[in-house]
Amino acid sequence: MRVARGPHPGANGWLGSWSPRSSDGFHGKGVEVSVGYEDVDRLIRAYADVIADQKDYLTQLDSAIGDADHGINMNRGMQAALAKLDGQAPGDVGALFKAVGMTLVSTVGGAGGPLYGTLFLQLGTATAGKGVIEAADWAAALSAAVAGVQSRGKAEPQDKTMVDALIPARDAYEAALGDGATFADALRRSATAAEEGMKATIPLVARKGRASYLGERSAGHQDPGATSSWLLVKTVADTWAGD
Ligand code: ADP
Ligand code: MG
Repeated sequence: MRVARGPHPGANGWLGSWSPRSSDGFHGKGVEVSVGYEDVDRLIRAYADVIADQKDYLTQLDSAIGDADHGINMNRGMQAALAKLDGQAPGDVGALFKAVGMTLVSTVGGAGGPLYGTLFLQLGTATAGKGVIEAADWAAALSAAVAGVQSRGKAEPQDKTMVDALIPARDAYEAALGDGATFADALRRSATAAEEGMKATIPLVARKGRASYLGERSAGHQDPGATSSWLLVKTVADTWAGD
């Protein structure tokens, strides 16, 4: 993430619905202006590493309420995405996200492939042609990604799916920008909200996907897709905003 001093650049750009508290409303700290192509490339590599590390955990979660393949599915997809990165022409952030999305769609089976494929394709559409993304661009991208996942999977909040991590992540991010938070702080708040949303799936009875076949017996288990979605939002914050 590039850091500069000065008014938040998103102040004039984001639908006019938020503004910093003052022209130097960054509370004396450096303001994170934007993330570039190389930051997005780092994000994809970092997420592939995280998924590889958490593969067994995700699969274990899926063994309780699904078919024990979520970690395997996600890892296959992210390793395939990783293999595409070096062949990608640097510059266009949107093209990079789209390449990841297309790779996930074509390499991951089950529900996760089309859903995560759609998520990344929508991030790509929202950032198409951009060499850098600013705080406001990420709001638009997150919003498009969530809309894409919901339109594809028809899941609503509380259905015990990845949407239960992604919607809080989107909403907390937008609320943070509305409060005048920096890009980095908004990303951290987004990750915290995703984690809370993920944990809140534990008592829920699944209404979508394979877990819904279990009915009441799906309660008491954390949703695997909400967990991999939290990991994504957390990796965004860790990669672009530091720990
Ligand atoms: P499968 O269920 O086909 O084995 P995965 O195990 O890879 O696929 O992914 C399971 C996860 O997919 C679930 O934990 C849930 O979060 C997510 N999921 C399933 N169906 C939907 C849906 N309709 N909308 C959103 N997410 C869904
Ligand atoms: Mg599964």
